[in-house]
Amino acid sequence: MSNTVNKDALDKDNHEKNDFIRHIIREDLAQDKYEQIVTRFPPEPNGYLHLGHVKSICLNFGIAKEFDGICNLRFDDTNPTAEKQDYIDNIKNDVEWLGFKWADKPYYASGYFDQLYKWAIQLIEQGDAYVDLQTPEQIRETRGSFNEPGTPSPQRDASVEDNLQRFDDMKNGKYEEGEAVLRAKIDMASPNMNMRDPVIYRVMKQSHHQTGDKWCIYPMYDYAHPLSDAIEGITHSLCTLEFEDHRPFYDWAVEKVGFDLPPHQYEFSRLNVDYTMTSKRKLKQLVDEGIVTGWDDPRMPTIAGMRRRGYTPEGLRDFCDRVGVTKADSVVDHRLLEFSIRQSLENTTARGMAVLKPLKVTITNFDEAVSEWESLKADSVNARWDEANKTLWLTQPKHPNIDMGEREIPFTEIIYIDQGDYELEPPKGYKRLSPEKTEIRLRNTYVLAVTEHVLDDAGNVVELKATIDKTTLGKNPEDRKVKGVIHWVSASQGVAATVRLYQHLFNVENPGAADDFHDVLNPNSLTELNAVVEPSLANAEAGSRFQFEREGYFVADAEEHSSDKPVFNQIVSLRDNYKPE
Ligand code: ATP
Ligand code: MG
Repeated sequence: MSNTVNKDALDKDNHEKNDFIRHIIREDLAQDKYEQIVTRFPPEPNGYLHLGHVKSICLNFGIAKEFDGICNLRFDDTNPTAEKQDYIDNIKNDVEWLGFKWADKPYYASGYFDQLYKWAIQLIEQGDAYVDLQTPEQIRETRGSFNEPGTPSPQRDASVEDNLQRFDDMKNGKYEEGEAVLRAKIDMASPNMNMRDPVIYRVMKQSHHQTGDKWCIYPMYDYAHPLSDAIEGITHSLCTLEFEDHRPFYDWAVEKVGFDLPPHQYEFSRLNVDYTMTSKRKLKQLVDEGIVTGWDDPRMPTIAGMRRRGYTPEGLRDFCDRVGVTKADSVVDHRLLEFSIRQSLENTTARGMAVLKPLKVTITNFDEAVSEWESLKADSVNARWDEANKTLWLTQPKHPNIDMGEREIPFTEIIYIDQGDYELEPPKGYKRLSPEKTEIRLRNTYVLAVTEHVLDDAGNVVELKATIDKTTLGKNPEDRKVKGVIHWVSASQGVAATVRLYQHLFNVENPGAADDFHDVLNPNSLTELNAVVEPSLANAEAGSRFQFEREGYFVADAEEHSSDKPVFNQIVSLRDNYKPE
């Protein structure tokens, strides 16, 4: 595997996507092979969708959109033990949130159980299937190996009548789980293990979320999938590379039941992203073991998690476009995903000031300096004085270049700045405040000069005393250059907020390869800070996204945020030296 990105997809001018699947579709259309392109996205409802599924969704729904076709959402629900209605509901929600629409209604493989059963009987009658009464262990042991052919089951050559009777008995609950299966009769010596008489029906005494207690036998995925595709008139059945070896059986099944215009399966490589794990089974384990707070924990690579994290559907779709579709296995750099998300936020999010690690600053000449604000301010400054609260309310646009309306920022005697903006021993090249560099501009208001720092017993700076230059509201001082601008929040008018910062859930590039993913969990994946935010941020609706000046992009948590107790999740940092080119 290598870190690769489809270079073509990076060229934004080259917007007609031209991967090998679209190429095939164009040829098929040119030859009038199909009236309409029909694809499908076929999740099994046994967990929540993840980043890998986003690729499949964008591909299947994207193709339908581009070629004026349709894409079905089909639940491949052949294994009732692991499946739940809750998963179905969330999958629908996730697909819609990503911006896609399925044709008419969602479909279910279980909706075809009657037809699949009839075809199983047809296969038996054709001599293409038989009931095997061996135990699961015997079936496994007699499959042979790569070098040795399998051994035929004692029932392989049973009569059609016997097989029909036994299959009927299976259906009527006369066999317990593991006592009988229906197998396709193909070739026990095939070099492809999937063709060595694969199991197509098994006994499972389980009720099903869609069909209730109607069935105690269920078709296997490999049998249900091609036939469901065929029933729906799917033209291009797109799946990941691990199904390549299953394609001969896919073709066998649709041919044996007699489709004239069978669907074709095409395989593309899975999406893998470094530091991330995309396996529903393992993600479920993280949820079940309480390692994360749920499927929608913002650290999860699930669509629900990414949504709660504040990722945008536009960003995720852009990411998939950039990754492209190939047959080459690769691991995509997570910074490409962050790049796409960041790009989607730049011109869509309002700005605001939030101090993540507050350091108190008392402005000792506040009253005196502010008393002259109106006569000394720059013409461009728009503000009002609020005598009752001793607050100067500064009106500022929500975004510097895009009209998103305005906000009022309160400036008061006591403010907070970030602890990182005052360093007792600044590193070389440090441009903010220190005992040597005492002046800086406060974003949107005056130039501030630190006159004293207050230390606690441990020698930490716990407060600054400072003055403001009353001639600098919206203007530079005339006699000197003041370098640097920092953000700040009023102590009395700002609102205490919980801000959550995230790191990777795992501290290795390929957590999927670890023997036990518990060993590679990052203990620092979540940091909760007691921050202070300006009122416009506190008053935001849950789910709205912002750029916190100098800090990054954040979203008001969809579940927990309120204007009294604001909660923000970090979406992505402001910039990264990463360039996708
Ligand atoms: P998991 O291994 O996480 O359970 P799955 O493949 O079993 O995933 P399904 O619900 O069967 O999950 O997947 C629905 C569709 O999504 C399938 O067509 C599958 O090929 C595709 N898909 C799953 N994971 C990825 C991935 N990482 N990249 C691209 N497509 C994927
Ligand atoms: Mg699967």
